[in-house]
Order: sequence, then structure tokens, then C-alpha cells
Amino acid sequence: MKLFQSFINKKIFSSYQKIFLFVLSMFFPSGVLFAQQAESTFLWPEGKKIALSLSFDDARASQVDAGTALLDQYGVKGTFYVVPNVVKQRLEGWKKAVAGGHEIGNHSFNHPCTGNFPWTRQKAIENYTLKQMRNELILANMDIQELLGVEAEVFAYPCGQTYIGRGANTKSYVPVVSKLFLSGRGWLDEGPNAPQFCDLAQLTGMEMDGKDFEQILPLIENAKKSGAWLVLAGHEMGESGVQTTRLSMLKKLIEYAQNPANGIWIAPVGTVAKYIKGQKG
Ligand SMILES: [Zn+2]
Repeated sequence: MKLFQSFINKKIFSSYQKIFLFVLSMFFPSGVLFAQQAESTFLWPEGKKIALSLSFDDARASQVDAGTALLDQYGVKGTFYVVPNVVKQRLEGWKKAVAGGHEIGNHSFNHPCTGNFPWTRQKAIENYTLKQMRNELILANMDIQELLGVEAEVFAYPCGQTYIGRGANTKSYVPVVSKLFLSGRGWLDEGPNAPQFCDLAQLTGMEMDGKDFEQILPLIENAKKSGAWLVLAGHEMGESGVQTTRLSMLKKLIEYAQNPANGIWIAPVGTVAKYIKGQKG
């Protein structure tokens, strides 16, 4: 009896548990096991192998002057993260983009980034408070609603930076974005999003500016290996120049993506984010 009691004693029992778990972990390393489960259980619609979103920032004039026409030609819907004051410079063009079914996202009220950029020193995130950031994101949403009649559900962090303050007082504003939006996208990231695992408030965004299709194709092939979601991000839309997504690249990319043999689901960020949310339950 005494022996039995000592056996069920929590301390001894937990030691047995530890041994059991240790032995189990030798056969099934948890990281490998869960990674395999995550990949094998997530299914894109219609048996597609990856999801691809084309996103563009800052409401640059070239996006509605030249870019949306190309997307429209192929029936592809892009995601445009806009700064409302800049939208005013091409208001009719942006209204047309909305009517054409393109997604409008929030890219903040006045594009605050690190003050290391001279052009943003007066609105440096190092000097922001969370409250100020939240208020400005809401303000941008209100302006987008007023100008274009749409509710911005998705957000892109200006300069891809997700913090305010400096040093010991630095705070992440990811939680603010998470409460206000369906998703938040970064910039200059190194890999695509794992649909089963990713944090919708911290989606990666990979650069497509200044690249030829031959440089984008490896990103797609890499995403295909794990069934990932590749969110490409760009700025100007044209043939050459700084921070410019080449229309010739886009043309080839879209034609490749629309070939059913390549298994690519091409959709705006919000559409894919909602699908993932639905799958996760
Ligand atoms: Zn930007």
C-alpha cells in the first residue's frame, strides 16, 4: 500500500511522465511532427498549391495611371495600401480602381517611419505613443471611407516597421493593428507566410520592385515547397525607375499564375486572410 501510494505520488508520477515524454520525443521530434501536420492539413481552394497576393503601397500615382489597367486586362485584383491624403491627387483613378474590385488597405495617415530617414524625421515613430498611432490609423480609415466609400480591412506597416518609441520604452504596435484590422503586412521580408502558422497581424511582404520575372519565379517555387502564401509588395508601377514594379514582369507573372498547371491562387490579401481565418476556425 505504501509503495502504491508512493507510486501515485505526484512527484514520482511526474518523473515517469518525463521519461515517457523523453522516449516519445526520441521517436517523434515535436518540431518535425507538428510542421508536417501543419503542412499536410492546410488546403488552398480548388487544390491550388500556393496563394499569391500582389500588393502596392503609398497610393503612388503610377498605380492608377498605369498599373490597374494591366491588372484589369487579366481580371486580377490587387491590394493597394493607401495614404488618404495622397489618394486625393488621383481621386477619380482610385474610385475607378475600387469600382474595378481592387482592394483598398490602410497605410496610415501620414506614413510615419524611423527618423533615420530625413524625410520622416518630423513624424518619427521613435517619438510616437501607441495612443497617437491608434488615433491616426482610425483617422486614415475614416478618410478612406469618406474618399472611396470603402472600409479598409487590411493594413501595411509604413516602412515595414512595427514599433514606436526607443530603447527601453520601445513598444510594438502590432496589437493595435491586430485589433483594428484583419491583417498587417511588413516589407522587405525574407520568406512567404505559412498559412497554418502565420500571424495575420504580421504578414511578410517580399519586394517585387526592380525585379524581372526570372527573379520572382524562385520565390514562387520556394513557396510551392511548403504550400505557402507569397505576398509581393511594390510601389511605383511602370517600366523603370526607383522602387518600381515592372509592368513587363507583372505581365509574365500573371500569365504564369493564371496557367492552371502552375496551381497558383492569385487573390487580394484580405481574401486570402479571410480564407485562412476560416480554415483555422
Ligand atoms: Zn509606404
